[in-house]
Amino acid sequence: MKSYDVVVVGGGISGLSAAYTLYKRGLEVLVIEAGDEVGGAMRSITTPEGYVFDCGPNTLATKDPRLWAELTDLGIADRVVTAGRAGKRRYFLKDGKPLEIPNDPVGLARMKHISLKGKLRILREPFVPRTTSSDESVAGFFDRRIGPEVMQRMIDPFVSGVYSGDPSKMSIKATFPAIWEAEQRAGSIIKGLLGGRNGTKKGAVQGPKMRSVTLNFKGGIAEWPKAIARVLGPQRVWRKARATGLHPVGAGWALVVDRDGQIETLEAASVVVAAPAYAAADLVSEFDASASTALRGMTYSSMAVVNLGYRRSQVAHPLDGFGVLAPSCDRRNFLGLLWASSLFPPFAPEGRVNIIDMMGGSLNPIRDTQSREDLIANAVTDSHAVLGASGAPEVVNLTRWPRAVAQYNFGHVERIAVLERLEQARPGLYFVGSYRGGVGMPKCWRNGVNTADQVATFLAARPALAVAD
Ligand SMILES: Cc1cc2nc3c(=O)[nH]c(=O)nc-3n(C[C@H](O)[C@H](O)[C@H](O)COP(=O)(O)OP(=O)(O)OC[C@H]3O[C@@H](n4cnc5c(N)ncnc54)[C@H](O)[C@@H]3O)c2cc1C
Repeated sequence: MKSYDVVVVGGGISGLSAAYTLYKRGLEVLVIEAGDEVGGAMRSITTPEGYVFDCGPNTLATKDPRLWAELTDLGIADRVVTAGRAGKRRYFLKDGKPLEIPNDPVGLARMKHISLKGKLRILREPFVPRTTSSDESVAGFFDRRIGPEVMQRMIDPFVSGVYSGDPSKMSIKATFPAIWEAEQRAGSIIKGLLGGRNGTKKGAVQGPKMRSVTLNFKGGIAEWPKAIARVLGPQRVWRKARATGLHPVGAGWALVVDRDGQIETLEAASVVVAAPAYAAADLVSEFDASASTALRGMTYSSMAVVNLGYRRSQVAHPLDGFGVLAPSCDRRNFLGLLWASSLFPPFAPEGRVNIIDMMGGSLNPIRDTQSREDLIANAVTDSHAVLGASGAPEVVNLTRWPRAVAQYNFGHVERIAVLERLEQARPGLYFVGSYRGGVGMPKCWRNGVNTADQVATFLAARPALAVAD
């Protein structure tokens, strides 16, 4: 039986960042990835015409210089493309057309998305009493604090764009813990967040920060996980290898792996489960029914991504920004129409534009019965109606995501607490992934690194514990 210090189940960014950190610390680590390729949700293709299409995530926004340092370490710093000023310009849909969101206070006061009554309602926020309930929906929280109009027109499109979630089901405490905590502490989001900026909470560890940068890679977002796998090498990253069983054995773990049809059992002192919650639920079901139930209770939205390549002359809109997000009250097919080649010019050949239509989400899930033709037709119609595109795109690509983005719905905090109890009861077993601590890639990466640090500390302490026993 092969034996490792750590086996990481899942080769998405959460698992790979953990594995790479462990590798740099000199530990024997193996990544088991069920798919043909690493990256999980991070998938990119380059078409024969020269378009770079991201089929899932498409922008990485970070303030963390450690992430930059890691890209340099991986040898892909020169592959990075950064969004210029276009990245700062964002639009929300209003009366069926993209309307820019100002990003300065004067512009915000004048913006046309919100009525005067809605703007005045924001000023009352510091005087709204704090809630006494232990959690609240995202919609309920913002309705109460800043009014329903701002909730629907400003918060909802953002929540839909990032989480593809249903704000009436999402837990404010789990989704926006800093905002929830600001209200609890200061009785107001405005006072709490401003206060937090001036005086950081005592004892809080602040990582180094830099100006926020939105980035991608010349060949699309999947270059990043592939680079990690390349450095780790094929002996440390098994593709087409699915973990099908996990059992505590003595002081360590036995992991059953189906490697392209061959079943083998591996031994590990520690296991990092970095697969999505539903897959983690299957793995722990044999030894912890309540953790398995908690993991199964964490749902995912279903989405489809349609990449559209048009000739520049076919699209009337200047596409001078990040893209346009749609509030759910507008009942559009799409969550967002993102202007990929405006952010990252190498993503479209000369004289062409690359547009991403993100559709679906918890309020309007993509169903298996919706045909490829219908989904693509919807995306083309959206681009015609909203961006003034005409004619057929010269290239299209459709990706379905039946389980796209983890939903931090009511009960999430309690479900995570069940998982924490399992980690305490079973030393050496760790869980990391987009269902815990943030869905965005930078947070998944950071949580992977932090988990690896915990694993390394645990492994370093083990011999000392054995002597003490
Ligand atoms: C359409 C879409 C758009 C998004 N846009 C953005 C964006 O623009 N910016 C951003 O920051 N984030 C975005 N996100 C979110 C972000 O991409 C994900 O939350 C993040 O990549 C998840 O990483 P992960 O490693 O936790 O999980 P995953 O990427 O899901 O990786 C888990 C891996 O585990 C493997 N696995 C599952 N079961 C097993 C098993 N039994 N054995 C072995 N392996 C297994 C899977 O094959 C998979 O590769 C988007 C997500 C989607 C779907």
